[in-house]
Amino acid sequence: MVWQTEAGKKKRMGLFQMRATSQILFDEIASRREELIALTQELIRMPTLNPPGRDYLQICEYLERRLKRAGFETELVRAIGTPGDSEKYPRWNVVARREGKTPGPCVHFNSHIDVVEVGTGWTFEPFGGEVENGKIYGRGSCDMKGGLAASIIAAEAFIAVCPDYAGAIEISGTADEETGGFGGVAFLAEQGYFSPGRVDHVIIPEPLNKDRICLGHRGVWWAEIETKGHIAHGSMPFLGDCAVRHMGAVLAEMEETLYPALAKRRTTMPVVPEGAKQSTMNINSFHGGLDEPEEGFTGFPAAIVPDSCRMIIDRRYLIEEKSEEVREEVVDLLERVKGQRPKFEYELREMWQVAPTMTKKDAPVVTSVARAIGKVMGREPEYVVSPGTYDQKHIDRIGRMKNCIAYGPGILDLAHQPDEYVGIEDMVQSSQVMALALVDLLVEGNKKD
Ligand SMILES: [Zn+2]
Repeated sequence: MVWQTEAGKKKRMGLFQMRATSQILFDEIASRREELIALTQELIRMPTLNPPGRDYLQICEYLERRLKRAGFETELVRAIGTPGDSEKYPRWNVVARREGKTPGPCVHFNSHIDVVEVGTGWTFEPFGGEVENGKIYGRGSCDMKGGLAASIIAAEAFIAVCPDYAGAIEISGTADEETGGFGGVAFLAEQGYFSPGRVDHVIIPEPLNKDRICLGHRGVWWAEIETKGHIAHGSMPFLGDCAVRHMGAVLAEMEETLYPALAKRRTTMPVVPEGAKQSTMNINSFHGGLDEPEEGFTGFPAAIVPDSCRMIIDRRYLIEEKSEEVREEVVDLLERVKGQRPKFEYELREMWQVAPTMTKKDAPVVTSVARAIGKVMGREPEYVVSPGTYDQKHIDRIGRMKNCIAYGPGILDLAHQPDEYVGIEDMVQSSQVMALALVDLLVEGNKKD
């Protein structure tokens, strides 16, 4: 029988050890529950609001002190000259790295440190970190300081239980995800922090729920459409040419042809929620006629025929579509309107675009986290794709790193809401998942090689 051979015995011992390591790590993290709560509370109590980008240095220095204690080498990196960076609101990031005993792959946990504005409707103190009924409340608790805390506890527990691991662990706290990530992950990626060679596996603990693995996101294409007209007195509109009416024709054509076409286009990407499994388009803003300045505006605009109307569209596209096709579809539409309306003039300005990305289900970081979810929660993970983008876009495009997922505690729908919270048990379990994934990637994976 196989297990009687030397190799078989070794294999059985290996399996036994693996189970033992999992159990010890499991218990280790469970025993750090209070520490996990305290860490999350302290992170929430730093009001890292973005905009404007408050207290980034404070939180980065806090993380630096904490991770140095766990044996990490740390670097503070300011993204000088990126949007919003100023002496008053400098864009600080922290990157920490801890080498293992022998060379091997590097697992990187990336969390954004910024939170969105508080808004109204809170019954809890937004930066209080109050605990009630097994939940920690506060702006950023779910998106994503709970995930950041869970990854730190996971790494610290893993280091305590498996001090002889191979490779390296990195943890970063990065700026500005909520405003595009230019002063955060994009800047670091440009400096090579997310390049293959330095990093092998990236986990972004965004709040996607503890049993879901987020493989990527849909694409984004933003453009401004301007229709032109001719100014005249409002009492004699026939002497002018109304740019808003021209835009009205654009909107009518969109309702008639574009929206129905987008609704029919379905993706094989497992996008959640269900409504986002198709191509979508939002109209972000619409301006026609005179400006309505905050100061000095009486509520009565002058009686003029608008000579310009601008509209910004936010088109989210699927992995099955190409950005050039997305653009051409809008150009064709505008040309059709032009064919129907004499004097129709327009300009189309592309503002920014992000390609859709989806990590393969058999990528090593995906299979490791999937196995860990199986061990901790006793079920298969759900694989999802995010309707909107997050920092994976920069890791994919600038870092050229394809082995990247989002996985973390918290319910996505609570992000940016009043009374945002993260469940303590969810944090403990996702921390266990992250730690077991480290065992898989930095201990077991290495033995297999
Ligand atoms: Zn987030």
